[in-house]
This record gives sequence, structure tokens and C-alpha cells, in this order.
Amino acid sequence: MKTDILGVAFDNIAPDEAAKLGAELAAGRKAAYVVTPNSEIVMAAGKDSALMSALNGADMVLPDGIGVVYASKILGTPLSARVPGIDFASGLMEKLSKKGGSVYLFGAKPGVAEKAAENIKAEFPGLVIAGTHDGYFDDDADIIADINEKKPDFLMVCLGAPKQELWMQKNAGGLAVGVMAGLGGCLDVFAGNVDRAPEGMQKAGLEWLYRLYKEPARIGRMARLPGILFKAAGQRMRGKSNG
Ligand code: UDP
Repeated sequence: MKTDILGVAFDNIAPDEAAKLGAELAAGRKAAYVVTPNSEIVMAAGKDSALMSALNGADMVLPDGIGVVYASKILGTPLSARVPGIDFASGLMEKLSKKGGSVYLFGAKPGVAEKAAENIKAEFPGLVIAGTHDGYFDDDADIIADINEKKPDFLMVCLGAPKQELWMQKNAGGLAVGVMAGLGGCLDVFAGNVDRAPEGMQKAGLEWLYRLYKEPARIGRMARLPGILFKAAGQRMRGKSNG
């Protein structure tokens, strides 16, 4: 079932269901694509119709971030859970590793995807690393040709937003992959270059605070986060006075 949060149609789905659906999409081999918008991306999509169309054209839309979940509560249509992109990727890779499936790691700075590949292989020994490519390119024809030669079950697209969403929407028709997902900085995390918040903080919905502590330069981007809550409150109040 879809839940509309400020124009973005999210799937109201638990993390384990998301991984299961991801594995089904991978088996379908139709280059399905998954997006994982956080508050910043939802707010950006409100001002960028191309990004909004790329998000709503996805086969699965997962709420990556506590701000989206809070906004859903304010709107009176609560999403049951936050599904961080990295948890979706891990859950799907675990399923694929059990049947000798494959993953292609695309994005991040040169060398990062290769380091991530080593760590992913150690964590999911049954998984085949089909290929890797960094995310800095002028022309992607060779990258697409390489992906299509390797035919991965799962393609991680880690180019940051909105680049990754627009890239997936544009290229879905010409890619020989099972399923792909736009996963922002996930390869940096798998490579061990950026660490995730301790589990207690993740569960308390404070991952953003840990990220700010680790990367204080994000303060400018994060200062925009409460915007989604004000926008949701504004929409709710207008809805109530209309109805
Ligand atoms: N990136 C890339 N190509 C680009 C711009 C960014 O591969 O042209 C990568 C960047 O190196 C980083 C990721 O995209 O690994 C974006 O990370 P960020 O933390 O900004 O994404 P978020 O998770 O916040 O969306």
C-alpha cells in the first residue's frame, strides 16, 4: 500500500518485507528500481519535478530517515517503520548470498567500491561480486556496457541524490539487471570510510545526530530538515480546515 508524503508515494513496508520484495524484483530480471528518499530528498522533490517523477516511477519507495516517519505521523498517515537504504541493501544481499546471486557496486570515489567489495564478500561469502565502478564519469556508455556484460542480480547505484534517481529512471530500460537501488553514501559505509551510529542511537532515531557529530560540515544541509515537519503540519492544517 502506498502512503503519500508531500507528493512522494512511499511503500508502507517493514524492513524484512522490503528485502523480500527486493529479492522478488531481482528474480523478475526487469531492471526494477528502488529509491530511498530521506527528508532532504522529499523536500528537494517538491521543487524539482524531474526528481519527483523519478521517485514516483520507482518500483519501491522506502523511507530512509526518521524525518519522513515523523512527517507521516503529522500528516495522520503514519508509516510503520523507517527502512534505511543500507539495511535494505544488507537484507537483500543476505538473501542473494544464499543462492549464489551477484551484486555490482557502482558509485563513490575511485577505490571505494573495491574496498566495499572486500568487506561485502567477507560478510556475505556466498555472494558473487559481479563488478565495481566509481561514480565520477563524463560518459557512462562504458559503465553501462560493463554492467550489461556482468548482468548482476542487484546493482547498487551510489551517486548521491538526485543524480542516482535520475540515472536509474533514465537507464532502467537499457540495463540487464534484476533490481537496482539508489543508496547515496552506502558504499562509503561498506568500505569502512564512514561508520554508522551505534545501534542504540539508530533505534532511538538519532542516526542523523551521530552523522552530524562525525561530519560537522553537514550542518547546513541538516538545518533544512525541520522544514519537512513544518510543511507536513501546514498541509495537515489546510486539509483539516478544508474538510
Ligand atoms: N558521488 C558519486 N558521483 C558524483 C557525486 C557523488 O559517486 O558525481 C558519491 C559520493 O562519493 C558519495 C555518494 O555519492 O559516496 C553520496 O554521498 P552522500 O553522503 O552525499 O549521500 P547521501 O547518503 O547523503 O544521499
